[in-house]
Amino acid sequence: MENTDCRSYRKNYGRFLNGKLEGKERRLLMKHVEECAECREELRIQYLLQEGMFRLEHGGTFDINSDFERMLVDVQKEIKQESRRTMFFRTAMIVFLGVAYYFIGIGIVGY
Ligand SMILES: [Zn+2]
Repeated sequence: MENTDCRSYRKNYGRFLNGKLEGKERRLLMKHVEECAECREELRIQYLLQEGMFRLEHGGTFDINSDFERMLVDVQKEIKQESRRTMFFRTAMIVFLGVAYYFIGIGIVGY
């Protein structure tokens, strides 16, 4: 079952595999390949092709299939860290604003 959604994600595979897909686009792609078995398979094939070529030239290990799974786990971790960082900055911002308002409040009320 191929829909336009799938196609739009597959356009990004090249950039994803080269580590050039970032932020929201990467997050959405990861979410999609977790839910869509066909796209995951397609991504695996592209990964195998790309890595296979590279390793033939440079002589690396050939357990590419489990490397693919590991790569996805790594990306997932990165995405989690990213959102944790965003959360941190958001929280810090709220605290900062709170403190700022507090001081402004004191300034207005007290002095
Ligand atoms: Zn899909």
